[in-house]
Amino acid sequence: MPSAIKYFAMKSLADYNVKILKNTKVIEVSKDGALCETPEGKKLIHGFDMVVQAIGSKSHNSLEEKLKGKVPALFVIGDAAEPRRAVEAIEEAVATALAL
Ligand SMILES: Cc1cc2nc3c(=O)[nH]c(=O)nc-3n(C[C@H](O)[C@H](O)[C@H](O)COP(=O)(O)OP(=O)(O)OC[C@H]3O[C@@H](n4cnc5c(N)ncnc54)[C@H](O)[C@@H]3O)c2cc1C
Repeated sequence: MPSAIKYFAMKSLADYNVKILKNTKVIEVSKDGALCETPEGKKLIHGFDMVVQAIGSKSHNSLEEKLKGKVPALFVIGDAAEPRRAVEAIEEAVATALAL
């Protein structure tokens, strides 16, 4: 995250007294709360009415291995190559199509 954006993001979180749990992994979210694995062990966190998922992403590209050697040409583009934004996937699709 660019440092200027990080500064204002962290300031907003502090202004709203947002509690940040570090080294904490969400295992399960249910109506009882979020079961988390913390450095101190498993802990059920509750008292919220909304979950915003903002985790990273990784590419899912199992098809490439299956198709390798079975088709005359194979191009991996878009999120299958690396998860990014739609515009990059579209640019790669156009460039690949034009190069055919
Ligand atoms: C929650 C979320 C929000 C996002 N918001 C934005 C945003 O606001 N702006 C932005 O620019 N980008 C955003 N993105 C990123 C954007 O969606 C992707 O970068 C873009 O969709 C990548 O396009 P793609 O064609 O590579 O992959 P996809 O759009 O994922 O298309 C791949 C397609 O292949 C199909 N497929 C997969 N395996 C097979 C198979 N074996 N056989 C046949 N079909 C298969 C899938 O069903 C899917 O339809 C967001 C992504 C997520 C997850």
